[in-house]
Parts: sequence; structure tokens; C-alpha cells
Amino acid sequence: MRSFVYNASPARVIFGQGSVKKLPEELARQNLKALIVLSTPQQASLAESLELSLNGKVAGVFTEAAMHTPTSVTEKALAYAQAINADSIISVGGGSTIGLGKAIGIRTNLPHICIPTTYAGSEMTPILGETADGQKRTRSDPKILPGTVIYDVDLTLTLPADMSVTSGLNSIAHAVEALYAQNANPIISLLAKEGIKALVGSLPIIIDDPSNLAARSAAQYGSWLCGLCLGSVGMSIHHKLCHTLGGSFNMPHAETHTIILPHALAYNAPKIPEVMEELAAIFPGSEGDAIRGLNMLLTRLKVRRALKDFGLKQDDVEKAAELAVANSYWNPREIEKDLIEELIQRAYEGSEAKADL
Ligand code: NAD
Repeated sequence: MRSFVYNASPARVIFGQGSVKKLPEELARQNLKALIVLSTPQQASLAESLELSLNGKVAGVFTEAAMHTPTSVTEKALAYAQAINADSIISVGGGSTIGLGKAIGIRTNLPHICIPTTYAGSEMTPILGETADGQKRTRSDPKILPGTVIYDVDLTLTLPADMSVTSGLNSIAHAVEALYAQNANPIISLLAKEGIKALVGSLPIIIDDPSNLAARSAAQYGSWLCGLCLGSVGMSIHHKLCHTLGGSFNMPHAETHTIILPHALAYNAPKIPEVMEELAAIFPGSEGDAIRGLNMLLTRLKVRRALKDFGLKQDDVEKAAELAVANSYWNPREIEKDLIEELIQRAYEGSEAKADL
């Protein structure tokens, strides 16, 4: 076995249906008495219902979290947290809300409890991406990692089926890149395969029957494991491309991950034969070809495959390729600008991924 370094992630996880009801117990355990509850405007009623259930322990509710964590929103939330003397942060929602919680947490050192309602996995990572002046900058710091995560399947039931599958595919992308990370290790690879399996098994059920509790619970379990992968080892070309497309072209996060994943995997395929074999064994219908299996899964999940459907322009393709190759980073296959431009062109058009680049 080759040498490796493994860092365990210290977050505390409370998993299970109805687990949000254990929040008062958790607050008492940590002696927290003045929470700021965060959400997006779309999930304001969820944040407010949490406030009602916490019997006076909420000092204030801030419902302006937004995609890609704009620093202008963080500054407003921070001023509010200080004005109400918050002693802790609760973020209830997807990666956007959790991102705001992390942004306040790293600036104040307040304890952060996450209650995720999507499958994006941010709650398991010490990573924070923030946007200012049209540029998304990402940093990693152990202090960013939330201290407690409560996974309650009931809160995911309202996530529409189409958003659930793109969010789940976003999660799968973390685990796929973890399998071929430069600092991959056997523990994280186990979690990655288990996480992908849980999502590959549950997402087709969710698209047909969004209120299926067993499938929702398996998807949440898978997203936890895949989030751990994202937080534990380095990501490569797939995440770099999605980061560029999201941060500089305002492409929606989960949908972009969904579209790029098969193309990024196809680009790396020649250099990662063992990973391709492992993935082929997980994606149903692969017949030994993981790209075929992934294409079939995307068809089964009825996802949209073209970046142009989400507002990317033909002129942006070359610009995105230039930005994505501007800074060097590790990838199993050397980054070649012309091929990356072709990859983005295929994703722009919505063609099926092929391992012929
Ligand atoms: P999101 O948080 O932006 O949520 C999308 C929309 O769905 C929002 O309006 C939200 O309120 C709503 N929503 C969420 N859960 C819902 C539910 N259960 N029912 C109904 N509506 C619900 O989407 P996301 O994909 O979870 O997060 C994307 C953001 O998270 C991006 O900014 C991305 O960069 C960041 N992210 C960061 C990390 C990290 O490790 N730092 C990891 C993953 C994602």
C-alpha cells in the first residue's frame, strides 16, 4: 500500500429523521443562549419556525443569504450579529446559507451549527468561497469548519426533485474528484465510494417520488460522506471549471457541477484507469465504461446538459477556458488550454461526454 496522510474531520454529526428537535439539547450542551439564525429569503419561514421552537434562545433572524457568499451580504449580517450580541450561529439551508454562516464564523469565532437542507456538502468542509467585485476567492482554514451538523431528512423533503438531483450530482462530483486526488487516501476513497453508491441508488427514486423518505435519507447520508471527501482531499479540474463558471459567469452551482462532471471525468479518464474501473462498478449500465454509466444516470435523472441553457454565451467559452488555466494546479492529466476549451464547448452545447479529448 502506498504512503498517505489522513486527517480526521472533527465535526459532530447528529443524523436522523426528526433530529432538528434535538437542537435545544445541543444548545444546552454547548451553553448557547443568543443565536443568530441564517437562511435565504426563500427559506425565511423555516428560519422563523426554528425561532419559534427555540423558546427565546434566538436573538435574531437574518434571511438574506445569497449564492457565492457576496461579502456585501456578509458585512450586513455581521453588523446585525454584533448588534444583537449573538453568541452562536445557526445556518439552516443549502451551501449559500452555510457559506454565510462560515463567513461570519471565521470573522467572529462564534460557534456554528449547520442544518443542511440540500446535498451540496459545504457543512463538512473547512472551505469558504466568497465573492467580491465579480471574483470568487476560496480559502481553507480549519476554523471555518462548522462545529456541529444536524442532518434531518424531513427538511430535505421540500427540495424540488430537479434541484435534489443536481444537488446530489454536485455531491457525487466531490467524491469522484476525491478518488483521483493527489493526496487521495484509502479511508477517504472508501467514504467516496460509499457516498457515490448511496446517491446513485437514491437519486433515481427521488426524481420519481420526491417524498420517499428512505431514498431521501440515503441521499443525505451520501451527501455527508461526499462532503467529507471535499473537505479532506484536494479537488482538480472539475471543481476548478465549476468555480470559474460560477464565480466569473454567474452559472448556477449545482447545475454547473452536473453538466461539467461527465466531461471532466472523460478528460481525466486516460490517466486514472483504476478509478474509472471502480466507478464503472458503481454506475449501473456502465458495461465497464464509467462515462457510459454516468451518461445513462444523467439521462435517467432528466437533468439539463447544456451551459447555454443557463445563460452562458458562445463568447464566454474561450474566456472561461483562459481563466480556468490561468493558475496552475494539480490534476491527474496535464491541463491543455485547447482541450479545456473544447471540453467547455461540449458542455456549452450539451453534448454527451466522450473520452476522446
Ligand atoms: P443554495 O444554498 O444556493 O440553495 C438553492 C436554493 O434552494 C435557495 O433558494 C435555497 O433557499 C433553496 N433550498 C435549499 N434547501 C431547500 C429545501 N430543502 N427546500 C426548498 N428550498 C430549498 O444551493 P446549494 O447548491 O446547496 O449551495 C450552493 C452554494 O454553496 C454555492 O455558493 C457554492 O459555492 C457553495 N458550496 C460551498 C461548498 C464549500 O465547501 N465551501 C460546498 C458546496 C457548495
